Formats: sequence, C-alpha cells, structure tokens
Amino acid sequence: MPKILIVGGGYAGFYTAWKLEKWLRPGEAEVTVVDPLPYMTYQPFLPEVAAGSIEPRHSVVAHRRHLGKTNVITAKVTNVNHAEKTATITPPVGEPYEFAYDIVVVTAGAVSRTFPIPGVADQAIGLKTIEEAVAIRDTVLTNFDKASHLPPGPERDRLLTFVVIGGGFAGIEIFAELRSFASSLLKKYPKISFEDTHFHLIEAMGRIMPEVSLPTSYWVIKNLAERGAEIHLDTQLSSAVDGKVELSTGESFESDLIVWTAGVMANPAIVRHTDLPIEERGRLQVRADLRVGTEDEFIEGAWGAGDVSAVPDLSGGGVGGFCVPNAQHAVRQGKLLAKNIVAVLRGEGPKEYLHKNLGAVAGLGVGYGVFQSGKIAVKGLPAWFAHRGYHGMAMPSWERKIRVVLGWVSNFFLGRDIVSLSAVETPRAVFEEFAARPKPPEAAAAASEKAAPTKARAPRKSAAKPAEKENAEKADAPAEARESVTVAAK
Ligand SMILES: Cc1cc2nc3c(=O)[nH]c(=O)nc-3n(C[C@H](O)[C@H](O)[C@H](O)COP(=O)(O)OP(=O)(O)OC[C@H]3O[C@@H](n4cnc5c(N)ncnc54)[C@H](O)[C@@H]3O)c2cc1C
Repeated sequence: MPKILIVGGGYAGFYTAWKLEKWLRPGEAEVTVVDPLPYMTYQPFLPEVAAGSIEPRHSVVAHRRHLGKTNVITAKVTNVNHAEKTATITPPVGEPYEFAYDIVVVTAGAVSRTFPIPGVADQAIGLKTIEEAVAIRDTVLTNFDKASHLPPGPERDRLLTFVVIGGGFAGIEIFAELRSFASSLLKKYPKISFEDTHFHLIEAMGRIMPEVSLPTSYWVIKNLAERGAEIHLDTQLSSAVDGKVELSTGESFESDLIVWTAGVMANPAIVRHTDLPIEERGRLQVRADLRVGTEDEFIEGAWGAGDVSAVPDLSGGGVGGFCVPNAQHAVRQGKLLAKNIVAVLRGEGPKEYLHKNLGAVAGLGVGYGVFQSGKIAVKGLPAWFAHRGYHGMAMPSWERKIRVVLGWVSNFFLGRDIVSLSAVETPRAVFEEFAARPKPPEAAAAASEKAAPTKARAPRKSAAKPAEKENAEKADAPAEARESVTVAAK
C-alpha cells in the first residue's frame, strides 16, 4: 500500500488528509499527518480570540478527532530527503527517526517574517498561533488590572499603549479588535478612561489592506481614528528596544504590547531542510497541478500547497503570477491536492488549480467590518455580519461551527469573558508557595530533640522517607510521639 506523508496539518494539510479519507478506497493508500501541534488552527479567528470574542479552543480543530482514518503523529518534520523518500521526524521526547514514504505532501505553512530591527525579536509577539492570540488577550487584561492601581504617569501609559506593526489584513483586524476589546473593558475599570488607552498601528506603505480598494481602505482608517486608534502611514519602526517604540518620523512612545504582523515567509524549518526545489523567494516550487517542479518537469511523488508553496495563479490575479498566501487558496488547494493524488494513484491525470479570488471580508471589532468583492464594497455592521456568517460557515466540521456560533450567541447575551488566564504560565506557583517541604535531616532531628520529652521521643528513621508514609506511621504512634512530629514538621 503506498504511504502518503503530509508534512503539516494546518489548512492545506488538514483538508488534504480530510478529503483523502473521503476519496481513497479502503486499502488504496495509508495516510500520515505530521504536525508539532495536535490541531489545525483557524487563523482568521485569531484576532477575535485575542479580543475575547471566541474561546481559544473553539478556533482549533483536533487532528485526532476529525482525521479518524489518518495516522496522526504529533512531532516536527525536520528534514525531507526526497531522493531517498524519507523524512526525519523529531518527536518532543525521544530520538529523531526516519519515516519512509512513497508520496510526500508539503503543507508546512508560513511563519512571521521579521526584519532585524533592534528590540523586535525580544519585545514583539506574532499572530500566527492560538498561543500568541491567548497571550495577547491576557496581556491586555493583565495590563488593565495593573494600570488600574497606578496614578497617571509613564508606567500607566506604557501599560495602556498597544502597538501593531503592519497594516495588512491580519494587522488591521487585530488592531481594530483590540480597540473594540479595550473599549468594552472600560465599563469594568472605572479608574481607566477612554483617553487613557492608546492605539498605534505602524505601516511602512502609504496605504493599508491592499486586498480592498483605496476608498474602502480610507474608510477603515477614518473609522478607526473615530474610535481612538491611530494609523501611521509611510512610517517605519526603527527600534523597539525594551518596549520603547521609535518611529522613522521621530515619534516615540513606550508599549508593553507590540504585535508584529508585517508579513510571512515560507516555513524555514522545511524549505531550508529539503532537497526539493525552492524558488527565489524561498518557497517550494510547485506547478499549477500542485506537483513539485517546474512547468516542464515535475518531481514524481512530491506535492505542495498553501503558504509554503509558490503555486502559479492561473486566474491572473496573483502577485508576481503566484497565489497570495491566504486560506481561500490553502483550503481549495488542499481539496484539489487530495483529488489529484487519488487520480494519479488510479493512473489518471491531475487537474490544474484555478481559483478566482472571491473578495475579502474583515472583522473590525464587534459591529464593524468591511467586505470587498471587485467594485462592490460593504462597510460597517452589514460587513461585520458578512464576516461572521462567512467564517462561521467556513470553519471545518459542524462540531466546530456549532461551538463557535454558540459562543458568539452567548457573548451577545452575556458579554465577553474578561478574565486573564496569564497565571497558566506558572500553574504551580500557588501550590509551591504554600507546600510543606521536608526540613534538612539535621534541622529536623534537632527540632524534634528539642521539642519532645525524652521519654516519649520516637526514634527517627530515614529523613528521606516520603512524608505521606511518615504521617501514616505517626497516626499509629502514641500521642506524645505524634506531637514531636508535628513540631518537627513545623
Ligand atoms: C491573523 C490571521 C488572519 C487571517 N485571516 C485570513 C482571512 O480572513 N482569510 C484568508 O483567506 N486567510 C487568512 N489568513 C491566512 C491563512 O490563515 C493562511 O494563509 C493559511 O492558514 C495557510 O494555510 P497553510 O496550510 O499553508 O498553513 P497553516 O495553516 O499555517 O498550517 C501549517 C501547519 O504546518 C505545521 N508545521 C510547522 N512546522 C512544521 C514542521 N516542521 N513539521 C510539520 N508540520 C509543521 C504548523 O504547525 C501548521 O499546523 C489569516 C492569517 C492570520 C495569521
């Protein structure tokens, strides 16, 4: 039975596996998905997760629950050697091992692309994972809690200043969602006023959201300005050392939250560790039929899709002739890839990928949105409904759709959940603070000698004895002896 290895179970990889499960006949091929995360992340929901509008776990899709016929391996692929048809799998525990395959599907996505600006690597946070979205949400909430104790001044300003770098779709969405989130929190923090909160988005180009028309992008800038969120166009970040944001315009301010959304690049963990061809912009070289290779020649048994790949855009709408990195393409490429693999296994020819952009829809915080398709633009509340309607339906599986939509409905009646769970990063802290520890043997013996009457002193056994066993023994001991133990324990 041919072995199909899918590297990365995000949008493209998840849909490839899901559809292979549907279209492969029993015994036709064995499918394995390898991903360091046990779930696919619905990334368009990350801004709403960061704003407390969607529960983090509702916006991910568990591989083991939804890929019932696929072998799921939760580990990293650290090398793909297609000449030998093996991939190196590095699990979180144990030694790396080689996995032999017949067909490889590379769908390892993209990571945040940064520039060597001082301070960015240490201070900023990306927005590609659910963990980052949760950390952003918790930082906003924790900062509100901290700021509510402080008098007006630089430290309070730093905690209440939120910065986003990059005015693409993801950047504008997180910026607008955080503004909406902060405004909704003000009711619960009487000591913090609207004027105390500061929002800055830094964009190097002269416009935002290239996916929408210029007039629509102006509407977004105006709408955000009216809501107290400033967009700095034609401005670059010069430094973010210690959270001090310095701009090319000479402006500077301190911030405790700098979200970096200024672009993505093909996953270096894969494209730098494979003998498959990589094009000049660092992406896997893929043909329109999603086989790896050039127009003239394909590499047998190697396929690619999604953000990690440069897939020719046959609709003519792409950037530089290639599909832009978005979920619209990743999902459709994943589905076609599964169909093409099945076709090739059955001795038929693969089809070429052709998808005309449907348009773009963005959520800009509760009650605000924009939708653009060709010359048609919808703004404000109707676009916000369109955003929720589209993404609610696009979430894979009814099980997930229901959770997300019910969450929105309950938020409508009950409000957002506004607790920071930042303490999960140190889950043992409270237990550890109050946990009794055994005294060093000498100190315990000395204390016991001092406290207990000579007659009743129980002979001490090994100090290394587990506390539970010792306590059980003491319960059987005479009262005086028990007392000596209590003192020693203190
Ligand atoms: C905030 C945000 C909002 C967005 N909004 C939209 C939107 O509204 N509309 C839209 O069309 N697109 C949107 N996108 C873009 C869209 O989410 C991506 O284009 C899409 O996720 C790409 O799918 P993919 O399968 O190529 O990569 P991913 O979905 O990123 O999946 C890649 C997978 O590979 C795994 N992986 C990484 N390294 C390894 C390794 N070494 N070995 C094995 N597996 C590995 C990852 O864990 C991940 O699961 C948004 C993105 C972001 C970040």
